[in-house]
Amino acid sequence: MNSVLQNDLNDLENILNQTKQHGLSFLNNLENIPTSNKNRIDPTRVLNELGLGSLAALEEFKERLAPLMVASPGPRYLGFVTGGSTPASIAGDWLASVYDQNTQAIKTQGGVSALIEFETINLLLQLLNLPESFSGGFVTGATMSNFTCLGVARQWFGAQSGKDFAKNGISETINILTATPHSSSIKTIAMLGIGSNNYTTIKTIEGNREAIDIADLEKNIQHLNGKPFILISSAGTVNTADFDDFEAISKLKEKYKFWWHIDAAFGGFAAVSEKFKHLTDGWEGADSITIDCHKWLNVPYESAFYLIKKEHINHQVDTFQNSNAPYLGNALENFNYLNVLPENSRRLRALPVWFSLVAYGKEGYQDIVENSAALALHFANALIEDDNFELLAPIRLNNVCFTLKGDHNQENVSQFLTELNDRGKVFMTPTFYEGRKGIRASFVNWRTTENDVKIIVKELKETISDLDL
Ligand SMILES: *Cc1c(COP(=O)(O)O)cnc(C)c1O
Repeated sequence: MNSVLQNDLNDLENILNQTKQHGLSFLNNLENIPTSNKNRIDPTRVLNELGLGSLAALEEFKERLAPLMVASPGPRYLGFVTGGSTPASIAGDWLASVYDQNTQAIKTQGGVSALIEFETINLLLQLLNLPESFSGGFVTGATMSNFTCLGVARQWFGAQSGKDFAKNGISETINILTATPHSSSIKTIAMLGIGSNNYTTIKTIEGNREAIDIADLEKNIQHLNGKPFILISSAGTVNTADFDDFEAISKLKEKYKFWWHIDAAFGGFAAVSEKFKHLTDGWEGADSITIDCHKWLNVPYESAFYLIKKEHINHQVDTFQNSNAPYLGNALENFNYLNVLPENSRRLRALPVWFSLVAYGKEGYQDIVENSAALALHFANALIEDDNFELLAPIRLNNVCFTLKGDHNQENVSQFLTELNDRGKVFMTPTFYEGRKGIRASFVNWRTTENDVKIIVKELKETISDLDL
């Protein structure tokens, strides 16, 4: 064994303890660590001939890299839609690395990791009140979940005219209807060879809504003259957390032949709350659903899952079968994740989610969701009371979409947001909604409190006065 590796092995306990101490100092200091950082590293570092060992690497990390890290798991990071990591999820994530299992087959030795993934999906179905007619698996994010679901939808579409697109390539125009797709769904249809231009935009409901207009949807369906199509619908749009009417879509499903996909990356968690679950009524009728865990479930990044109806398993295997490895046997008898989703070798990605669900239960997640929604409302009310701001959309769940008041201020929105973020106490992301530049604050982090909202409002006011707006 190389001597540096040998030293590291002998010193393992010390290395892990020091790493833990450093991690704790970050987590315990999150409140004070800036939410943005403009300093950069020179990334041209030369690879050393002789390794430095873990402790020296940790020292260099502390000195050179750690100071540039931002408080993205902290309570006032409201950009995109990102949660933080809970204690249980960090424990699960660590152990996923420590145990370093390859999560593929159930029947092989070491198949417990695949069974843990099964169990975790089952726990998630219970959390979200979804039926066991769905099977699921873990991927790195909602983008890859959309890719997985729409990949199977593509295969289903071909099968409607007896074609096998996975084997022979796409030989038909695939009809896709959608109203307010997330950008990642469009990226996904590019990656799937369908083409990012090749979808039909359905109208949204009039009056500041992003949800699909069912009448216009049906009109477009009728234009297809009985041809199959794929519907991409939304449970929680990023700007205004709007939901399509899933009961109405379920009724259309009785009349027309289509694959129904729901992007519920964060909005799916509405289902855990008595208060908000009506937003998801009817979603169990979908063929596939995308849900992110690194958003409202508050686990570390690279965690999302897909749900696809079990009745489509053949299309799913046709899409993802790793057929170059015949020793793997019949995919259905010998269930193996590498035959039903994009990756082959995978870490024990379910473990952080398993830890979190076991640790916090239904009630823990109901509280996180309802707390986030209450804080979004609280923040929105503060904006309404302040003469400098206006809401661009009502608060439906957890996202606050707002701007500087008045059209004359449109030119100041970017500068305002840059200045606000540079102050480092809160982080929000820019958006464009109904023809206007806006700002989006998304409440998903389990740590956020009313006191944080106070700090955020103070930051907004000070930024306004600093800029003399
Ligand atoms: C965040 C988000 C995505 C993309 O998720 P990633 O985890 O970044 O891949 C897709 N759809 C919706 C609705 C989202 O909010």
